[in-house]
Amino acid sequence: MSETSPRLRAALDSVPTYKPGRPAASAGTGGPACKLSSNENPYPPLPGVLDEAVAAARSFNRYPDMACSELTAELADRFGVPAEHVATGTGSVGVAQQLLQATSGPGDEVVYAWRSFEAYPIITRISGATPVEVPLTPGEVHDLDAMAEAVTDRTRLVFVCNPNNPTGTAVRREELERFLDRVPSDVLVVLDEAYREFVRDPQVPDGVELYRDRPNVAVLRTFSKAYGLAGLRVGFAIAHEPVAAALRKTAVPFGVSQMAQDAAVASLRAEEALMVRVEQLVGERTRVREALLGQGWTVEDTQANFVWLRLGEKTSDFAAACERAGVVVRPFPGEGVRVTIGETEGNDIFLRTAEEFRKAL
Ligand SMILES: *Cc1c(COP(=O)(O)O)cnc(C)c1O
Repeated sequence: MSETSPRLRAALDSVPTYKPGRPAASAGTGGPACKLSSNENPYPPLPGVLDEAVAAARSFNRYPDMACSELTAELADRFGVPAEHVATGTGSVGVAQQLLQATSGPGDEVVYAWRSFEAYPIITRISGATPVEVPLTPGEVHDLDAMAEAVTDRTRLVFVCNPNNPTGTAVRREELERFLDRVPSDVLVVLDEAYREFVRDPQVPDGVELYRDRPNVAVLRTFSKAYGLAGLRVGFAIAHEPVAAALRKTAVPFGVSQMAQDAAVASLRAEEALMVRVEQLVGERTRVREALLGQGWTVEDTQANFVWLRLGEKTSDFAAACERAGVVVRPFPGEGVRVTIGETEGNDIFLRTAEEFRKAL
């Protein structure tokens, strides 16, 4: 028997682990337990969408449609793009990982803002490429000038998370276009728009408009947030050939289940009902932010379904206070807390906790 373990790629040694938002405490503690830690949609699936998923479940002895044909056609129609420009995957994180597989390896660099989505360092390191993290501005926004300057001839891919997770801040059309004009055309710019449906600032551009005459831009969208299908794992990219073709090559075969495909199609068709829910969450977002400002907190404008409190050393204490009160938030120890906008009850518990915490500061 050999004493050595199988040889694994050294790149994996530097891969940070993804910390999922903690689940809400189980019942029995008396108080309510609301999960405000993963930016999920708090509403249960719409009846029609659930029916489609259940119907698809009846044949899960079969492989799904590998090409996601119906969903692809529906998305192409919805966004007014050729079907060949749509590539689906196992959540938009899955698609982002495929983009890295398609572009980046050892010796290459991947530029993104920091702090931003915690999957970026993980999937970058897995690819073997070197992350280049560009600090957010003091206002918690992408520093696009600094990011453009960080692009070298080793850069293969740049992530722009718009709005940014976890700060909720968004970059606007003019600055984003100026940035895109500066990035060399052989560097792929990925506009991660996981929260696009929550954007209300008209100056924040729709990536799908920006991609049209820019072959080096790919737009990532997901059904996990506004559409409420987080547990089904389906997202997509809109990108020109050959990027979209590269995504089809790097896809896990049959990765998107038939339940996910059918639920996604049904969700697009139920968009009106879903957008009513999104509008409610946007209303709650405004209410929560204004209440926090009234309590004396600094809260940057958020265009997503969460708010960000930069609590520094107080982060873990604050998260613990929330948990005692019955809401689970997402702490980034030493930095801040991201709190998902949920239903009124959970938001109110969070606001009461924030108020008491603020008074005791
Ligand atoms: C939640 C999120 C995603 C989407 O993840 P899925 O894999 O589609 O569930 C992508 N990007 C960002 C920035 C996110 O916050």
